[in-house]
Amino acid sequence: MKLHEYQSKKIFSEHGISIPVGRVAVSAEEAKVIAGELNDRVVIKSQVLVGGRGKAGGIRLAKKPDEAYEIASQILTMSLKGLPVRKVLVEQAAEIEEEIYLGITNDRDKRKPVMISSSAGGVDIEEVARFSPEKIIRTHIDPLLGLKDYQARDIAAGIDLPRELWKPFVQTASRLWDIFSQTDSTLVEINPLVITKSNQLLAVDGKMIIDDNALFRHPDLEEKRDLDVDAASEVEARKYGLAYIKLEGEIGCLVNGAGLAMTTMDIIKHFGGSPANFLDIGGGAGEDKVAAAFRIILADPKVITILVNIFGGITRGDEVARGILAALKGIQTEIPIIIRLVGTNAEEGLRILSEAKMITADTLEEAAQQAVRISKVNK
Ligand code: GDP
Ligand code: MN
Repeated sequence: MKLHEYQSKKIFSEHGISIPVGRVAVSAEEAKVIAGELNDRVVIKSQVLVGGRGKAGGIRLAKKPDEAYEIASQILTMSLKGLPVRKVLVEQAAEIEEEIYLGITNDRDKRKPVMISSSAGGVDIEEVARFSPEKIIRTHIDPLLGLKDYQARDIAAGIDLPRELWKPFVQTASRLWDIFSQTDSTLVEINPLVITKSNQLLAVDGKMIIDDNALFRHPDLEEKRDLDVDAASEVEARKYGLAYIKLEGEIGCLVNGAGLAMTTMDIIKHFGGSPANFLDIGGGAGEDKVAAAFRIILADPKVITILVNIFGGITRGDEVARGILAALKGIQTEIPIIIRLVGTNAEEGLRILSEAKMITADTLEEAAQQAVRISKVNK
């Protein structure tokens, strides 16, 4: 889950990293009021979860409250890379001398977090990484020991930071590490970390990505989720604890188990079809959950048929069959549903389903071929 700049910077600030003064506005009037309060040159920053806002025209400076009003009203009607701008951050503009890059992410090859730093921070950091990789310093962090001060001092020396800024830099780097480890982030980034004209370090931009699998440990962060980035159906799925990802095809998939769901998608592809979604209802899913899964799949107008692929383990096949029938009772649909059911009590389950005139298949191959055929014929 990505956090907005203003959310990330609030967390930075709570951990003692210096950020510019300012506030979020949802209207041009509000932006004007904030600019008036700050009584200085301000920067108006679109709050959307995409990179490169500056280059896309989503970050602009204003000298006067009236100008802040004008710019905010323009930015608040923009979309950046398809996402609407609903909020702007209005901050006292920083007087920038230099822009540094400072971030932490996981290095999967080394199986360790890595702090990445460069004296050539700012909007062109991707080009720096590609064309001048020597300007980028990577420092691996032992997750049990954390970032050591000597490592941060090495980085400060490596990016040719003026000596009087080493102490605040070491503090900033070590606080950034605290944030990374305490929030279960997969990325924390300050780009740019600015050296101001008055020789202070200031986090002008902020980005955080929290590991979704750790969010249960951070209910306070989960609340910050921006629902604009997720399809409505994915939001609904999350509510019922279903792992759902919408795809582009026509065959809806309802499966118990992530591996089985992947297999189901592969075999659909193998027979020339195209899955409409990944959906794992998990183990021991009750009637409510199955019903929600059907509703979510059927809400996708592209779906022509549904392939239900269930492996009865702890949940017995007859229970699953009754669950499917109960779930379908409240759902009106003409869409053909093909069911493949194996495992514990599968025979009993299949008998219940055929009595209810459901389409069943004995093998996964057969079920997939049938679904692909229907998806082509009914198109
Ligand atoms: P991004 O483009 O989405 O990464 O947004 P940033 O917040 O990093 O802003 C992009 C660029 O705009 C920065 O690298 C700065 O050069 C410039 N910028 C952002 N905030 C300020 C500010 O307060 N004052 C000045 N002078 N420039 C700023
Ligand atoms: Mn930035």
